Order: sequence, then structure tokens, then C-alpha cells
Amino acid sequence: MSDLHNLSVKALASLLQTKEVSAVEVATRFLARMGGNPHNAFLDIDSEVTLAQARASDTKLADGTAGPLEGVPVAHKDVFVTRDFTTTAGSKILSGYRSPFDATVVQRLRTAGMVSLGKLNCDEFAMGSANENSAYGPVQNPWDSARVPGGSSGGSAAAVAAGLAPAATGTDTGGSIRQPASFCGITGIKPTYGRASRYGMIAYASSLDQAGPMARSAEDCALLLSAMCGADLDRDSTSLDMPTEDFAASLNNSLEGLRIGIPKEFFGEGLAADVRAAVDSALREYEKLGAKLVPISLPRTELSIPVYYIIAPAEASSNLSRFDGVKFGHRAKDYTDLVDMYKKTRAEGFGNEVKRRIMTGAYVLSHGYYDAYYLQAQKIRRMIADDFQNAFKECDVIAGPVAPSVAWKFGENANDPVADYLADIFTLPASLAGLPGMSVPAGFGAQGMPVGLQLIGNYFKEAQLLNAAHRLQQATDFHLQKPVGV
Ligand code: GLN
Repeated sequence: MSDLHNLSVKALASLLQTKEVSAVEVATRFLARMGGNPHNAFLDIDSEVTLAQARASDTKLADGTAGPLEGVPVAHKDVFVTRDFTTTAGSKILSGYRSPFDATVVQRLRTAGMVSLGKLNCDEFAMGSANENSAYGPVQNPWDSARVPGGSSGGSAAAVAAGLAPAATGTDTGGSIRQPASFCGITGIKPTYGRASRYGMIAYASSLDQAGPMARSAEDCALLLSAMCGADLDRDSTSLDMPTEDFAASLNNSLEGLRIGIPKEFFGEGLAADVRAAVDSALREYEKLGAKLVPISLPRTELSIPVYYIIAPAEASSNLSRFDGVKFGHRAKDYTDLVDMYKKTRAEGFGNEVKRRIMTGAYVLSHGYYDAYYLQAQKIRRMIADDFQNAFKECDVIAGPVAPSVAWKFGENANDPVADYLADIFTLPASLAGLPGMSVPAGFGAQGMPVGLQLIGNYFKEAQLLNAAHRLQQATDFHLQKPVGV
């Protein structure tokens, strides 16, 4: 089978269950494709580890103890700690770090049978929108190597788009699953805050961080999401005490009468014409499927940028204080005393964007500024969440663009971090509200670059989002398009 690398998670799982292919065969194919590390997507590959997992999966497939995704490969964003691979979160400060345990999400996917292909490149500590902030070099977009793959889960999106992995994990704090999925023409979902355990996910902004799957189709995302999610109360107090759900069960539900809310603030000036055209045509497709488009308003959309870029750095400045050279990773070589060691270690280990966020975060939390910035941002965050609840009185699902433009060229926003921040405008609101959101391929822009449609649901409505995305993917073939050579 020469096209193993282009098969869906679902197709691979069924070929493995019926023993038409072995897990070792599948793993070997992907490892071969990963050779030379195309697009700089991976940060750690260890074929011995992968093949050992594949052999264990083959044993389970033979003796009837296989999980539902037994033998299907997956690659993990380097923000999830893993025992068998290094974990750096894209930072020099964690260079070579090996965790003594696996993140809950990693462990749950392995329990479902998935074989790990290694660790994926990302922006340092998941801070970024272009993967240009990785200490290990940027990831190239498989559709055009002169362009960014999006961020921070850029390695995850590029690996799936390039057929280096059938699926990947990502994390989304302010858009890091949805935006790279959009830029690379794949499907990704960020579930409701609390659905997936954050245990072993290196913390960036804990009140926002969520794990989710990235794959070619909504159906594949549903299969992974069901395996990833579930209560983990002893280890993550914010994980939801809810039973695991079969997110694939309602994929084929009819969309007849579904009310899709169209926020006018997502279609204003600043939205590139080619993105708008692709999103509009996806919306017309939904009308053909029986859905009704309802105009709505999310009046504080613009405020989500300053609010997010106060809250996320505030939490980051606290979370990242643990990287001081004592317990984890890098320690400066020459220092005079403890404080000097902290200073030099952090000065050497962190990149510029991480330093910028730590300084911003410390500032907005500091005495005298806390009320003016942090507290104010928290209040507006609540209003943004309330705006969504108002909107959901009139609609079932909200739709709009994921990002204002297609993937930009490397260097275009260099030396202008605010340009990257502004491009997060459509993904930040759902993150601040803790709502589930996803990116679904909706067509191609002027330069042949993929465009993603964003779908936002109310709390715990992942099944509804996946249903809407799946029905669109039954009616269109954008998610099946591949970059040249894949
Ligand atoms: N671009 C946003 C940031 O830099 C979001 C990143 C993310 O979701 N991890 O913070």
C-alpha cells in the first residue's frame, strides 16, 4: 500500500484491526517520510521508541486486547511532557529535558492504542502565531516553504499537512490549534476549557490552555478527541468531572434548521478579501445543507486583543518562574551566587518573545498597576464571555474566519510582535470565554494558500461543532487537497 501516509486515522485503524497492515509497517512508513525532518516539523524522533510501541500494538492486535486506535501513529506537540522523548516546549532552557512521566493526554492516546512518532516543533512555550519563536528554528508551511505554518502548534499542522503523521496533538491558549490548522489546510479543534487534562502540558496561561487534536478531517479529530478527554481530577483540578463522550456518534446528524450566527465584527475591514470569499462560500454551502444564517454581534471582539495580551503574559510570568536553572534544563555555567545564576540562566535560556511576555506580565501584576491592567482585563474577559451567551440565545453555532489573512511570508512581521498579536483577533474571544472552537478547511486564497473557517460552539458542544464540520467535509473536498508532492 503506497498511500498509507495519506489514509485517515479511521481508515488506518480499520486496516490495523482487520490485520491488512501491521502497526510496525505503518510506523515504518511514517518514519521513512520523517527522514531528514522535512519542514523542520519535528524536534525529537527516536525510531526505536516508535517501533517498540508499534510492536506492542501488534501484540495487542493479535491477542484481542487492542484499543480503538491501536497502531495508528500520532505525533505530539513538544509542550506535552513525555518519558520516551525529550520535551523542550521549543525553548533552549529545556534543551535535552526528559520528563519522568507522560502527560495525561499522551498517556490516554497511548491507552487507546496510538503509537507515538515523536515531538513536534512549536513556538517557545507556545507563545506565538507563526512558529518563528522556536529556539530550534521555524517550521516551513508545506504549501509554500517561504511562508509560516502558523503557531504556536506549527509543527503539528505542518506534519499532518505534509503526511508525516496522520494526526497530531496541539495546544490552544489563544488560537494555537485553530490558526495553524487554518494556515496549513487541516482540521483542528480546541475543546471546552477543562475537557482535556492539562496534567503534563507545560503551562503557558493556565486559565486558557487547552489540548486538542489536529488531523485532516473532523471525523479523525472526533476519534482522537474522544480518546484524549476525560476527568483527571486528582492531577488537574480544572479538568471537568464529566463522562467521556463518543464525539464521532453524531457526525452525520442533519443540519436542517441549524442556526449559524455570523458575528458582524468578524467581517469588518482588516479581513482579507480572499479569506472572506472562501468563508462566504463555505457559509453558502451550509445554507444548502439546510442551516440558517443569523446575523449576531460580539461587540467586544476588538478588546479581546488587549485583554488576552494582559492576562496571558500575567499567567506566563508566574508559570515560567519555575525555569530558574535549579530543577529543569539549562543552567548558566559561570555565576557568582544564586541570584546571578538565576539571572544568567534565564537570560541565556529564554528567547526574546518569552522575555517580553514575562516582563509585560510582571508589570501588569505589579503593585500600582494590578488594578489598572490585570483586574480590568479580568472584568472585560467576563463581559466577552457574557456576549457569547447572549449570542447563543439566537444561534446554535457561530461561524467566521479563523484569521484575517492566509499564512504570511517569513520575516513579514519580524520586529513587529504587535502585528502577530493583532492577527489573533478572531481566535482570542472563544479562548477568553473557554468555549470550544475549531478550524475547518474552507477553500484557498489568492496565492493558493489554505483558508480555514472557524466554528465556535457553546460549552460542551464539541459534538455539534464536529457534526457541522463533518457535514461540510461531506459536501466539499478542501480537506482532501494536499500540497504538491504529498
Ligand atoms: N498567538 C497567541 C499567543 O502568542 C496564542 C498562542 C497559543 O494559543 N498558544 O499567545
